[in-house]
Amino acid sequence: MSERYPAMPPRNPNPPYKRIATEEAWLPPDMMELYLKEIREKNINEPGFNQLWGFFAGDSELAQNHRRRIQSLGEGRIADMDNSGIDIAVLSLSSPGVQLFDPATAASLAVSANDQLAEGIAKYPDRYAGLAAFSPLDPENSAKELERGVTKLGLKGGILNSHTLGTYLDDEKYWSVFEAAEALDVPIYLHPNTPSPQMIEPFLNRALDAAVYGFACETGLHALRLMVAGLFDRFPRLQIILGHCGEALPYWLYRIDFMHGRISSTGRHPNVKPLKRRAWDYLIDNFYYTSSGVGWEPPIKYVMDVIGEDRMMYAMDYPWQFVPEEVGALDAMSITDEAKKAFFEDNARRLFKI
Ligand code: CA
Repeated sequence: MSERYPAMPPRNPNPPYKRIATEEAWLPPDMMELYLKEIREKNINEPGFNQLWGFFAGDSELAQNHRRRIQSLGEGRIADMDNSGIDIAVLSLSSPGVQLFDPATAASLAVSANDQLAEGIAKYPDRYAGLAAFSPLDPENSAKELERGVTKLGLKGGILNSHTLGTYLDDEKYWSVFEAAEALDVPIYLHPNTPSPQMIEPFLNRALDAAVYGFACETGLHALRLMVAGLFDRFPRLQIILGHCGEALPYWLYRIDFMHGRISSTGRHPNVKPLKRRAWDYLIDNFYYTSSGVGWEPPIKYVMDVIGEDRMMYAMDYPWQFVPEEVGALDAMSITDEAKKAFFEDNARRLFKI
């Protein structure tokens, strides 16, 4: 290990905050079976899914442990949380969730997954919260299922695993789910998917398509498409969550703001209209950010600095990046006690109403 690698001191055994992990993946056994079947039968024409789940459907120890962990809503997951100091996990249907299937199939799988998730949460109500899956290409149904998930099942928002069969949600015909989220006052977590079939090709043969880099390209692009399309002018109170320290968008904030301002004001592209506010404002006022997969102080502090301490939350990204030691590194961050409590606990409690 390089001596430059971040130190991971032991975690604080009695921190003055609860640790809420906000991007924790779960996959119900029936959907896992469907994934394995699609991989076995080579049914799915989605290269990112085939490469990623082709590995995790396999016999390696990593893949087997991963499949066991991701399906657990019981003692196994609680033990892992206890062993890594996580008090509460906000669970969501693992990428690509239902979005691999045609809209009608996706809609019925979302209902089943949300019901199972709510049952799991009911057994450990002090340890789990969850987000509702929906079928993004079925606009009427997606809004209804989000509403059912929140009002009937007690879920805390929605999970959108980026593109759905190559379609992005910046087309306003899909916006009913965002309208519902704003009306219900719940956030939508814009979680990664492997890059859409249109963009994935140069990622594939160097295995850069998934969490190593492709996820961030895909998901950051989706977030910007939503913003450029005017989603936040239509729904100004809507809150979108981005993981992985914002998929690098906070780092690009200055240039995105400058260049989008120039492109929109000069009318150079028919699909880019001037917006009511600056890109800068949307990326701060309409987004929350989490540290999922980035257990490293500098970029976390950077997001706190440019976006705000009130919009940065902890996430582990279990079980995809299960690194219990990162909790100690983040307990030890050189930030104020208030900022640390906001990061681990207060911001998530406020946003998800936990
Ligand atoms: Ca994740």
